[in-house]
Amino acid sequence: MGTYANILVASVCIVFLAIKWTAPTFDAESLKGARVLVTGASTGIGEQMAYHYARFGAQIVITARREKVLQQVAEKCKSLGAQQVFYIAADMGNDSDPDKVVEFALEMFGGLDYLVLNHIGPTPFGMWEGDVEHVKWLMKVNFFSYLQMAWRALDSLEQNKGSIIVVSSLLGKLPSPFVAPYSSTKWALNGFFGSLYHELWMKKSNVSLTICTLGLIDTESAMSKVKDLTTAPAYPATDAALNIITAGALREAELYYPYFTYIAALIKDWFPSITNYFIRTTFKYNT
Ligand code: NAP
Repeated sequence: MGTYANILVASVCIVFLAIKWTAPTFDAESLKGARVLVTGASTGIGEQMAYHYARFGAQIVITARREKVLQQVAEKCKSLGAQQVFYIAADMGNDSDPDKVVEFALEMFGGLDYLVLNHIGPTPFGMWEGDVEHVKWLMKVNFFSYLQMAWRALDSLEQNKGSIIVVSSLLGKLPSPFVAPYSSTKWALNGFFGSLYHELWMKKSNVSLTICTLGLIDTESAMSKVKDLTTAPAYPATDAALNIITAGALREAELYYPYFTYIAALIKDWFPSITNYFIRTTFKYNT
């Protein structure tokens, strides 16, 4: 390698290390007493986020449809150290429930510091068979309710230098088979909140927005669907949850978890035929 190439490589390494060293580090104390609303918290990643926030001493409102399960999660949150925990059953497929949930949290806490949008409605994993009504309903649950809640919470988040955390997916950046309805809701989320991110910045808003791109996570619902149909590796829900919370607390614009989702999103358009080949070979399908 020539001298210039050596200098270039060394410079890139130095810049990378400088960025790493000067990056802010997560301070768990910053979440003590923080007022947090987590959606889809009865199970999976949302449940794990509730437990992490509880361990950090936050005040938490959790929501999902199943009240009994929420009650159990709330009790565990209390035992883990949450300052306060409230739960509210809501169906994000109903027009008024997204507002109702945010209003409940604002009433309980008098304000909000974190709005964590995480819930998803159940959807089949398989070839699309033309069910347009299902896609419309899923859009309502996975997409429109997110906007509604974000808008309802925005004033309070603005006053409190708060944060919106949107849990999205690599499937919202990389089209894959068997997930057309789900994938379309995640593409919509990335587009909408990607645009809102710029608008908040242009308005010099106090509100930070973190969009989380996740790969396959070992939640019960995900694993029960994909276990015999994909060779993709699954990562632990508790670790995904902690990474989401950390990225939100650091007010980062984006989180990619696990790390390779960033590489996949970055290079997907460089060699489309190779990317498409890999995507298809990740899924098993017998005609
Ligand atoms: P999950 O285990 O299926 O949990 C979904 C949550 O949403 C549950 O608490 C569920 O509770 C709630 N929910 C379902 N329908 C609802 C409705 N109509 N109204 C209100 N709440 C509803 O999901 P997860 O695997 O933890 O995923 C969490 C987030 O991570 C999602 O945004 C997902 O897209 C993202 N993600 C997951 C993976 C993965 O592999 N797991 C990968 C990439 C991204 P109830 O049934 O009690 O309502």
